[in-house]
Amino acid sequence: MEQWDAIVVGAGPAGCACAYDLAAQGRSVLLLDKAAFPRKKACGGGLTAKTLRALRYSVAPVVHKTVQRIVIETRSEPHILVRSGKTICAMTVREELDAYCLNKTIEAGARFQKIGRIERIGQDADGVSLFSVEGQWRSRFLIGADGVNSQVRRLTQKAAWFHRGFAIEANLSRNAIRDDLVFDFAPVPRGYGWVFPRRDHVNIGLYSAEHTCSFDKGRLAGYIAARYGRDAAAENFIGQYLGFGAGEHVPLPGRILLVGDAGGFADPLTGEGIYGAITSGQAAASAISAALDHGADAGLTFAGLTAGLRGNLRITERVATSFYARPESGFRAMRMPFVRNAVLKSYAEGFNLFRLSGIVRRFLPAAASERAL
Ligand SMILES: Cc1cc2nc3c(=O)[nH]c(=O)nc-3n(C[C@H](O)[C@H](O)[C@H](O)COP(=O)(O)OP(=O)(O)OC[C@H]3O[C@@H](n4cnc5c(N)ncnc54)[C@H](O)[C@@H]3O)c2cc1C
Repeated sequence: MEQWDAIVVGAGPAGCACAYDLAAQGRSVLLLDKAAFPRKKACGGGLTAKTLRALRYSVAPVVHKTVQRIVIETRSEPHILVRSGKTICAMTVREELDAYCLNKTIEAGARFQKIGRIERIGQDADGVSLFSVEGQWRSRFLIGADGVNSQVRRLTQKAAWFHRGFAIEANLSRNAIRDDLVFDFAPVPRGYGWVFPRRDHVNIGLYSAEHTCSFDKGRLAGYIAARYGRDAAAENFIGQYLGFGAGEHVPLPGRILLVGDAGGFADPLTGEGIYGAITSGQAAASAISAALDHGADAGLTFAGLTAGLRGNLRITERVATSFYARPESGFRAMRMPFVRNAVLKSYAEGFNLFRLSGIVRRFLPAAASERAL
């Protein structure tokens, strides 16, 4: 039986980022997905500036729009306008983005195959065996990049640290809708509504960091009607969970690594998951390279390489708990340009949140900031 250097399960942003780096280094990589591409994925497709920077290639051919200003709507007026001279976010459609990234990954040398249900995974001193309904595969390392409901995670770990948020979205024709990217913190507890402008439509949705939440289509339809009137014709309603918890967990030693939503690398404060997916996928590729070249333990190296990312997620998890409990305190602080710019920098460019926590302490009332951090 052929033994691959790595098998990556899941060809979303995390799996493609990992498989691309390994294939580009000449490693043998098998990328498996239960779907044929292009495939739909519930997602606003917003790529922050830090995500564009993390990608190994330009995704310009699948960018619908770039955004340099964000309107933050709160329960109290006036709304907060955040502006930048540079791109804050690029708007894509995941169906197009993911197919584009998969093609790049295949061009780099990875082999792609559609598979059925994975039934069993075994790990021994030399490698990993994966058993699906079609048969058996063998590799030195296995990467679980199969999203929030990861079968790799379920078959290999108890993962008590893992938890979920939820988001639902729909598309709306752009008639009479302005171009702004909007985050609206009024409509749902522990979350927000969003409006993302795209080339010929807007993507609109509701996000909650609450693990017990699952809005239904009726809730989002009601929000759209309240915002744009009863005649606004929305379509393509689709919802999915997001994977959290990487900040509270140290990856295990061994040959099986979890990346992206499978490993809980989405950010509970903003719901942004593509950045964590790409950077954790790339970290897994580096850890596997080190293991193949020098015999280092891949899991331990992966834990070291993701320490900064996981530290930031640990902080955003705590900030999310505090912020969503009393969002008005956060908005009061954001009316100050210094704080607003720090928050913008953090969202768009990956400003170090350890430093941001210092700023929040300085500007929020003492009691609130203690609860926040
Ligand atoms: C409504 C919504 C809006 C969002 N908006 C944004 C946004 O604007 N910006 C942002 O950064 N993040 C956003 N997110 C989060 C983002 O979508 C995820 O964090 C991101 O897709 C995670 O990437 P991933 O590669 O880990 O997983 P996924 O993108 O979920 O990819 C997993 C892949 O694994 C495959 N797979 C699953 N199970 C199996 C299996 N058993 N066997 C084989 N293959 C399997 C799937 O087919 C899929 O291709 C949003 C999420 C939701 C739900």
